Amino acid sequence: MKKILLLLVAFFSSNAITAQDWLINRTDWGSTDSLVESNLHEISYITIHHGGEIFLKERDTYSYLKNLQTWSRNARQWMDVPCHYIIERKGKIFEGRPLEYRGDTNTSYDPTGHALIVLLGNFEEQEVLEEQIASLKVVTEYLIKTEPVSSKDIKTHKDYTETLCPGRKLTEYLGTKDWTNFLSKIYNE
Ligand SMILES: [Zn+2]
Repeated sequence: MKKILLLLVAFFSSNAITAQDWLINRTDWGSTDSLVESNLHEISYITIHHGGEIFLKERDTYSYLKNLQTWSRNARQWMDVPCHYIIERKGKIFEGRPLEYRGDTNTSYDPTGHALIVLLGNFEEQEVLEEQIASLKVVTEYLIKTEPVSSKDIKTHKDYTETLCPGRKLTEYLGTKDWTNFLSKIYNE
């Protein structure tokens, strides 16, 4: 019995080392799994989105994600929520579709090879919050360090197709020195 306990402790602590401590995993937000082994892809792009609907800071992201998952599967016949990382208004980062599966889109570009990050809110109208930018940097840095993405392949949805996404205010931010300095710092490390 003691041996089993020790093995369990070893298993969970080694898991804790590999897990990203900044990430709220799928199981933590109540995701159900109906994933099939299809649409696997290799990441070579990072593509930034906004949620597109007004999202208030107080809104419950857990139930938003569960509803989004149900809608994605039932109304769209997608395997899961469309994006890989979801950043809520308070800056918490949620795991969406597992990264190894190609994402989905309502528009006409092929998301194969794209790591999709979505910041919740409508940035044509709402401000991008500091907490969201900080978390965007955490996810982006992680992806740059773990996937072969070159700096020219970090773009936004509207760089690929006709859309307002990721909204004017987020687009403005991504044109600032703060963002470009952040990227060049990671690439020069
Ligand atoms: Zn988008």
